[in-house]
Parts: sequence; C-alpha cells; structure tokens
Amino acid sequence: MRLCKDMPDAIGGTPLIRLRKASELTGCEILGKAEFMNPGQSVKDRAALWIIRDAVARGVLRPGGTIVEGTAGNTGIGLALVGRAMGFRTVIVIPETQSQEKKDMLRLAGAQLVEVPAVPYRNPNNYVRYSGRLAERLARTEPGGAFWANQFDNVANRQAHIDSTAPEIWEQTGGKVDGFICAVGTGGTLAGVAAGLRARKPDVKIGLADPDGAALYSWYTKGEMKAEGSSITEGIGQGRITANLEGLEVDMAYNIPDSEALPVIFDLLREEGLCLGGSSGVNVAGAIRMAKEMGPGHTIVTVLCDYGTRYQSKLFNPAFLREKGLPTPDWLEAPAPELP
Ligand code: PMP
Repeated sequence: MRLCKDMPDAIGGTPLIRLRKASELTGCEILGKAEFMNPGQSVKDRAALWIIRDAVARGVLRPGGTIVEGTAGNTGIGLALVGRAMGFRTVIVIPETQSQEKKDMLRLAGAQLVEVPAVPYRNPNNYVRYSGRLAERLARTEPGGAFWANQFDNVANRQAHIDSTAPEIWEQTGGKVDGFICAVGTGGTLAGVAAGLRARKPDVKIGLADPDGAALYSWYTKGEMKAEGSSITEGIGQGRITANLEGLEVDMAYNIPDSEALPVIFDLLREEGLCLGGSSGVNVAGAIRMAKEMGPGHTIVTVLCDYGTRYQSKLFNPAFLREKGLPTPDWLEAPAPELP
C-alpha cells in the first residue's frame, strides 16, 4: 500500500493479474499487467508522465506551457490529466474515427481537441504530422510556449517502460518470466519492456501481437512492410519503425484478427470480471498463441492496456459489431433476467 504525494506519483505500480481461462487453456501462467488501473485508466499514463518530466528537465516545456500531441486518445488523456496536475495546457489532434468516449474524456480532462480525418502517415494531414506542425505554430504564438510530445519518436516513451513497467514485472513474478508479448502503437511498451526484461534475463522471449491493418507482423516475419485488412481496435497497428521500435528484435510474431481478439475480450468480461479495451484482446490472444508455441509450464506476461467502457459504443455495441460482420454474442442484446 502506498501513500502517493500527488496524481502523477500514483502512475504505475499496477497489479499483475493471473488470467484463469488463458492459463488453463495453455497449461502456462498467463499474467496481465493491469494498466487500466492507472489514474488515467491506460498504459499511456506512464509514457505521458515520462515525456512531460523529460521535457521539463530539458527545458523545452516551461511553466504555463502548452503540450501538443497527436494521439488515438489514451496518450492525450494521460497528458491532459498529468498536465492538469502539473500546470500545463494540452492541445490534442485526434483521428475522428476514435471512440466518442475517449473524445469526451479528453474534453473533460480539459484538452482542446482538433479532430482530423483518419489518413495514413504518408499523408501530410495525418494526425501525427498535423500535430507536429500545429506545435511549431503554437510555439510562436502561445505566451508560455508549446512543446510537441511526439510519442512515436520521443524515446522518453520507451524509457517509461524500461524504468517502471519492466522492473515491476520482474519483481512481481520474482524473476520467473519466460515471455512477454503485446501489440504496438508507438512501440514504447513492447520495446521498453523487452529491453528492461532482457537486461535481467537475456533469453526471455519477446512476442509481437499485431492486429489486421498493421504492417509489423509482415516486417518481423518476412522483412516487408505490408498491411492487409483492418481492425476496430484502437491505439495499436503500426506501419513504420518508430524511434521507439528502433533496435527491437522479436522472437515471435502473430497476426491477431478482430475475430480472434473479440471473443477473448468477451470471455474476460463474462468469466473473469475484467472489462477491457480491444487492444487487450489482441494482447491476451497473442499470449495464448505464444504459450501454445512455447509449450506448458511457462510464465507469459502481457498488458491489459485500458478499460472497456472507453469503447462501450463500439466493442460492446451489437449494432456496431453486426455492421462490421464481427462476432456479436447473444448476451449483449439479452434483457436482464427477471428477479424471482
Ligand atoms: N492499447 C491502447 C488502447 C493504446 O491506446 C495504446 C497506445 N497507443 C497501445 C495499446 C499501444 O501502446 P504503445 O504506444 O506503447 O505501443
């Protein structure tokens, strides 16, 4: 039990939860790092805090300054909330396709939102590139200056996981960790935890779980950046080697379609009481595949990235799922049973 001196101090130190069904199915211990228990309810709180602290230390973010970022939502929520606690304003550029719940939360956290069409990175109006230009402009006009968080290529993001997530996993498992796997948005989590664990145990296996529409599965298995299909998951799916991913080697890689990730999300909610977002489904499905490949008796850790209510209008909305041709469990539509 900790007494935290403020909200940023409460980031990290999340529980590691044994996932019963995945463990029973594979004969391995499959453990999920409960990142949804961070104050901003996602793994991205860690990156937000490390990026802000690093910018303050380098003198590029000054008191009263504005933080500008392009984000699928969770990094923005982390930046906006930590920004509130530390006295910075935030301006967030977000693709309009992201869930309404995340946009509402960003506004509630006091971020100023700029919604842009969801276009690929090669397009100059892609949210990440747009946010970089906006930061340059605001740096000239904002009285307190402006700082571009640049989570994809700012390695303070990866450092958060080298300094905090990896040592926590090491300590929580007593060093008994054989594999770690997760999906990639910026790559900060995967590359940072991989580096932190490999420093302690060089032969730990590192796995990539890649959704449809992302190119890293093809990159790490065939050496070509090729993406096929699409995914309703948010915050993951990368088509280039970001600075955070540079130097990362993975031992195993799996392509996880939504049709495989969604049943995992539904089971975790219904059978284990864990209400999680779509990327957590890709991660746990990836951990199951990795466990099957490694064989029984291993301990494999993955990440439970964010809380499921953040996607109520999509992941848990039968009309949305049906429209996408995805598995739509009966219980989502069933009325609550009558009480006796
Ligand atoms: N899951 C969700 C829901 C996210 O928002 C993100 C961050 N974009 C990730 C996973 C991936 O994390 P990272 O950026 O560290 O690769």
